[in-house]
Amino acid sequence: MACNFSPEHAPAAGRDEHYNFAAGPAMLPPALLAQIQDELPDWRGSGLSLLEHSFTGAPFKQLMQEVEQDLRELLTIPSNYHVLFMHGGACCQFGLLPMNLLAPGQSADYLESGYWAAKAIAEARRHAPVNIVASGQRDSFTALPEPSEWRLDPRAGYCHITSNETANGLQLQHFPELSVPLVADMSSDLLTRPLPLERFGLIYASAQKNLGIAGLCLLIVRDDLLKAPRAGLPSPFSYALQAEQQSRLCTPPSFALYCAALMLRWIRQQGGLAAMASASRRKSEKLYRCIDASDLYQCPQRPSDRSAINVCFQLRDNRLLTSFLQQAAQAGLLNLPGHAAIGGIRVSLYNAMPQAGVDRLVAFMHRFECRHG
Ligand code: PMP
Repeated sequence: MACNFSPEHAPAAGRDEHYNFAAGPAMLPPALLAQIQDELPDWRGSGLSLLEHSFTGAPFKQLMQEVEQDLRELLTIPSNYHVLFMHGGACCQFGLLPMNLLAPGQSADYLESGYWAAKAIAEARRHAPVNIVASGQRDSFTALPEPSEWRLDPRAGYCHITSNETANGLQLQHFPELSVPLVADMSSDLLTRPLPLERFGLIYASAQKNLGIAGLCLLIVRDDLLKAPRAGLPSPFSYALQAEQQSRLCTPPSFALYCAALMLRWIRQQGGLAAMASASRRKSEKLYRCIDASDLYQCPQRPSDRSAINVCFQLRDNRLLTSFLQQAAQAGLLNLPGHAAIGGIRVSLYNAMPQAGVDRLVAFMHRFECRHG
């Protein structure tokens, strides 16, 4: 990397110049935060805060319909799929998937692609036999197993993938057409790119990365997978019963749904999922270019599997990590430490992260390398 400017010209961060690169809960568009603040005491002229509205009243039902409609349009969800809004985050679904989708004794296929897939597998094993179709473990999760290596079980109830490994910085670029239902944890990349929805039996995602705030888990599930609940499963955790009751079997996470409504409108205003995908590509390519051209930074992930959403990299000299993170924070570049289980640096580039945040980070990385490289 050529040092063609003087490091003392580093801009200092001001109040409005912070960029939050957290993996989630993630940054929200500033305009959206302002709107939430503005609307909080009196929602849609009702004289009540959204926080005080009954979930069975017409205004809140209308809001839920708007969220579903926007999701259907943005993702082109076919009419034979239900959209469910549940509590409990994606981790809760790790256990609910086998409980809802498998007959007693039936097994499920899992692709072991990284940290989050391993979590999903460990939880599924508490409820059903699990077959690992392929594992990236032998590459220390720096590459995804080739689809030709997957050993699928045709009797499996479903095959589970993690479309984007948030902690490892790996992202599936293609989704196979399988004879068993394909189930995907898309917690960190749903709504960042268009999808061939009809290839999936079920998609689930926590909301606090690309769809607003924590507390809401979104499910998109094909109608034929909605089965009578397993004995002992609490009703609000049954996909079929929630589908029957339009996700109102218990009080839905109303504030998170309201934030999702705002976020979906914002995504539409930006040009929809094609625009989100090209913005993500631009942001991540700037970072990968900077890393690959450097003698100080390194990204061990195989280039074809690198995530456009969570860019994970390391310093060749790990003793510099603490000063990198401290100086980055002083420059207004926040929450850059890698996942606790992985270490290094992780840059999360969810939909709300503007190009300017990445430009500032790349400029900082350049300056840091000039000082320490
Ligand atoms: N799956 C993936 C891919 C994730 O990134 C995360 C959160 N980082 C989770 C599952 C867990 O989500 P939650 O904490 O909302 O349960």
